Amino acid sequence: MTTNERINKIVDILLVSNSVTALTGAGVSAESGIATFRDPDGIWSKFNPLELASIDGFISNPERVWSWYQYRVNIVNNSKPNPGHYALAEFHKYNLDFNLITQNVDGLHQRAGSENVIELHGSIIRNKCFNCNQIHEGAVINGNLLNNCKRCNGLIRPDVIWFGEMLPESEINTAQKLSSNTDLFFSIGTSAEVYPAADLPLIAKSNGAILIEINPVKTQLSNFADIRIELTSGKAMPLIIEEYKKRVE
Ligand code: NAD
Ligand code: ZN
Repeated sequence: MTTNERINKIVDILLVSNSVTALTGAGVSAESGIATFRDPDGIWSKFNPLELASIDGFISNPERVWSWYQYRVNIVNNSKPNPGHYALAEFHKYNLDFNLITQNVDGLHQRAGSENVIELHGSIIRNKCFNCNQIHEGAVINGNLLNNCKRCNGLIRPDVIWFGEMLPESEINTAQKLSSNTDLFFSIGTSAEVYPAADLPLIAKSNGAILIEINPVKTQLSNFADIRIELTSGKAMPLIIEEYKKRVE
């Protein structure tokens, strides 16, 4: 099948689906200039994840962890959503029960206009207290010093999920429920290696959903996909939404 035929087939399925769920990963933000983690030139090929994204790493050197997160927040603040984010935001405008689940922590889906995004791994734009979980607004670093929680004086940390931490319960529960009740599931720009998020496409598939994978590179999910589009998300998602619009408008 050519890419065009695959896009048409996906739109055929979209048109008869009552509920559609998409799971996105770091690849969706790659075209916005935000590095992925596991690709050969990704972040984890240059840094040690356990020093930068774990509770132990934070306790042993909070300043090092903060300087890394500030570096990433700067990149995110200087980046913009790409056509893949905008195309996904358009799905909400149509008469579809469309749900967006993301592993990304960059807030770009929301900036593109997506609503009710389920953030499985938190957000680097939010901070919280290491002890009491109180959300912390405002500057984290005061001169060279880290600010402390106003409520309990604990250290402030990014509101993201680190290695070894549990996902937020209500988000993962909702994501699992949506995945098991969906007709069509898109896995977009994710290596499908980080659990429990990586289970969601398989939960959908085993409950009868059609599984679409959008990724220029094969993943361990590829063999389970009913249709694969080997294009970037910024190229594939606009093609899908444009074809869908042509057919419904
Ligand atoms: P990953 O880094 O493990 O995998 C990225 C995947 O995206 C790869 O399979 C790659 O082939 C694919 N890809 C690369 N460019 C693409 C493009 N333009 N279009 C479509 N696909 C493309 O990422 P993951 O699966 O999301 O898991 C990584 C973890 O890292 C998540 O927990 C996430 O929280 C975190 N993370 C988030 C960001 C972000 O918020 N932007 C960035 C890096 C990592
Ligand atoms: Zn506190």
